[in-house]
Amino acid sequence: MVVDYLIVGQGICGTMLSWFLRKEGKSFLVIDEARNDTSSKVAAGLINPVTGRRYSYSWMADILLPFAESSYTSMEAELGLKFFEKKNLIDFFPSPNARLAFIETMNEREEYLNSYPDQNHFNQFFDYEFGCGEIRPVYTAHLSLLLPTWRSKLHEWNSLREEPFEFEHLVLKDGSVSYHDVEAEKIIFCEGATGEFNPFFEKIPFAPNKGQAIIIEAADLPGEHVYKRGQLLVPMAKKDHYWVGASYQWKYEDAQPTQAFLEQVQTLLNNWIKPSYRIVAHLAAIRPATLERRPFVGLHPQHDAVGIFNGMGTKGTSLAPFFANQLVQNLVHGLPITPEADIRRFSRILSK
Ligand SMILES: Cc1cc2nc3c(=O)[nH]c(=O)nc-3n(C[C@H](O)[C@H](O)[C@H](O)COP(=O)(O)OP(=O)(O)OC[C@H]3O[C@@H](n4cnc5c(N)ncnc54)[C@H](O)[C@@H]3O)c2cc1C
Repeated sequence: MVVDYLIVGQGICGTMLSWFLRKEGKSFLVIDEARNDTSSKVAAGLINPVTGRRYSYSWMADILLPFAESSYTSMEAELGLKFFEKKNLIDFFPSPNARLAFIETMNEREEYLNSYPDQNHFNQFFDYEFGCGEIRPVYTAHLSLLLPTWRSKLHEWNSLREEPFEFEHLVLKDGSVSYHDVEAEKIIFCEGATGEFNPFFEKIPFAPNKGQAIIIEAADLPGEHVYKRGQLLVPMAKKDHYWVGASYQWKYEDAQPTQAFLEQVQTLLNNWIKPSYRIVAHLAAIRPATLERRPFVGLHPQHDAVGIFNGMGTKGTSLAPFFANQLVQNLVHGLPITPEADIRRFSRILSK
């Protein structure tokens, strides 16, 4: 089999990369083992321009959000699948200081942060003492719908192998690679958190962290917004189902859900939401985060048939569309990659 690109991984990165390569008329084969505990399968798929306790604006939010919106809506149209929604976020302030921080940031800059006129509007559903504000636009991309739909397309085109990728079978040639019976111009690794063990890229500063979330069913909650009070409460694609999370753990023994997180979320929910709810699942995965919180995008400085598209951290749904397109434009037309994301910023480390 001869293809232009061999792609390892079909999380949000491998999905967006293959989507944009197809737009350029390039052929590819995706290798992905079917695992359930991967970051894209556990994520809420939230796209939020605001981050942290000080309500800072996320890196490149002004560029990434419109690009994500146009990419996901054109995928919806072409795939005949509704998976992308605008769900502005109602932030219930956990303390008077948080309220103050929100108002200060809102007064400094006009985008994204807004006061909510009727402060009692959510009283019927939530307990909140210190008021609320609205962050908009915020979107959710339901990856639980997008990923399997794209996967069945890949199956249909004979462009997917469901198996673990094994490095010992990869042969680098002069300007191309081979893997078993496959000949490709280049191989691009989109392996998520397992990328830190990739022999080509193990020296770059991955800083993986574990995230957990709970899925609840709550028929009487209003599903038109995302809500936040300490944790996020995100309406899911399935009716009356909400995603609640997440944790950020840099020290962990394994990638399994923990009783401590479950209890912490139950306590929060019992003090926050008024309608009854039922816990239906508890999920955990390792996020492919990086030390400087910037993605890894581009070709290896020493092996130009080997590339990486990884390091999305907490923001895969926002970052992946823009940087997948940028990587494809780089591969096909030689256009530059944003320096903060370009893997060549690690040329020295990768050349040792
Ligand atoms: C609890 C939690 C909540 C999150 N919430 C959000 C959110 O709301 N919004 C947001 O933007 N981000 C969120 N994230 C982060 C987001 O999930 C990641 O940034 C993103 O999913 C990373 O995608 P990826 O494609 O790089 O990796 P992955 O999703 O891990 O995909 C990698 C794929 O490669 C495959 N693979 C790896 N190695 C091999 C191999 N050797 N052989 C074959 N296949 C292989 C895996 O099976 C997998 O399918 C969250 C993460 C967690 C854990």
